[in-house]
Amino acid sequence: MSFCRGCGTTLHETAPTCPHCGAPQNLPSADTPGTLWLPVPALVVGILALLAAIGLADSELIDQEEYIGTLLFAGIAIALGAVGTYQQEKGRGMSIAGLVLGSIALVIGLAI
Ligand SMILES: [Zn+2]
Repeated sequence: MSFCRGCGTTLHETAPTCPHCGAPQNLPSADTPGTLWLPVPALVVGILALLAAIGLADSELIDQEEYIGTLLFAGIAIALGAVGTYQQEKGRGMSIAGLVLGSIALVIGLAI
């Protein structure tokens, strides 16, 4: 259920025009569909995972929990980035960045 942009009467969501006043309903809105709750965390977690992986690669003594945490972060970044990339236009650049950063972190982590 949605409301007419013209007269405010209730409409079926897929109605192209209002049967009451004829106003078109599918005008492109300023916002592209989707939210930023996938891309932003994907990017942030991806950066953190990469920094952690680089830190691990640099350190001589590897803490096992830190190592697992880094791989986990990388996995989360990849998952969020992949879902964000395939499911929505909004923030796709950030989703792809999260996906790529997570993948790099994973590769670095696995190579240690
Ligand atoms: Zn109307």
